[in-house]
Amino acid sequence: MIQITMPLNFLGTVYREIRQALVDMGQMFGLLLQPAEINDKPGAAKLAVTGGHVRFEDVRFAYDAERPILKGITLDVPAGQTVALVGPSGSGKSTVGRLLFRFYDVTGGAVTIDGQDIRDVTQDSLHAQIGVVPQDTVLFNDTIYYNIAYGRPEASRAEVEGAARAAKIHDFIQSLPDGYDTTVGERGLKLSGGEKQRVGIARTLLKNPPILLLDEATSALDTQTESDIQASLREMGQGRTVITIAHRLSTIADADRIVVLEAGRVLEEGTHEALLAQGGRYAAMWARQAEADADESHPYEPSPEP
Ligand code: ADP
Ligand code: MG
Repeated sequence: MIQITMPLNFLGTVYREIRQALVDMGQMFGLLLQPAEINDKPGAAKLAVTGGHVRFEDVRFAYDAERPILKGITLDVPAGQTVALVGPSGSGKSTVGRLLFRFYDVTGGAVTIDGQDIRDVTQDSLHAQIGVVPQDTVLFNDTIYYNIAYGRPEASRAEVEGAARAAKIHDFIQSLPDGYDTTVGERGLKLSGGEKQRVGIARTLLKNPPILLLDEATSALDTQTESDIQASLREMGQGRTVITIAHRLSTIADADRIVVLEAGRVLEEGTHEALLAQGGRYAAMWARQAEADADESHPYEPSPEP
């Protein structure tokens, strides 16, 4: 009896963990549908990251064959640099992130990391090297400790708390009656958007990946919380390769390079200053946002007395 149930229990646990990982990754990328099944090549090697140089080489991609989404994108993100992707909604920014994580295979061109085509390496080794901070961090209905430790389940208590400290969420956790044992998520304590993002940052810091993908990580937050979290994200990006997808341009103005996507193509790229000087699409987007921000900064101005 015992010999039979133990392996079954074990398989059950493994199955649940795999399911959970898929659900987690799917939610991170805002996927509603299960992604196509991607298999490791027979005898696939582990990804060997030397610096974290990410390259998209003339990448083409379509979710369904009739509707091309990426129409030949070349992106070069040197090791340790930050490249920001901007562009209208639907231009393909999140798709770039999904392809880097190999949620789908490209239909043309290639994605490489330190010269290795990501189709030639195991998915486990690929996923281990990339940290994702999405717009809305997924919290499991479990303790806050579990939610942070998820980034690296074998981490010690001191490492988990260290990550929480670096993400500036440790003091908040300590102030809760049950501390790190507080249950969070849908059926537990509801955290604010900013607190959830800090848990996500702590989780990613614990994972300590050389490559970071930030997909509108702060776009759901109010302006003050956004700038607080942006400061933490910027710190986390030090010494890592970062691809950041931004909604608010002020958060990426200091990126090493900004790439403007439109309808699945690179329209412009350069530094913030160079793009402003160029007076093209980026400059127009910047002017529009500056105007909107100016309006937003006095929303409660009383209307003049009649
Ligand atoms: P962005 O992040 O720039 O807003 P996305 O990369 O999410 O854009 O989407 C680019 C295009 O691909 C959009 O037209 C979107 O509708 C489409 N798309 C995104 N995900 C899927 C999917 N799973 N299946 C089919 N089409 C999709
Ligand atoms: Mg998107």
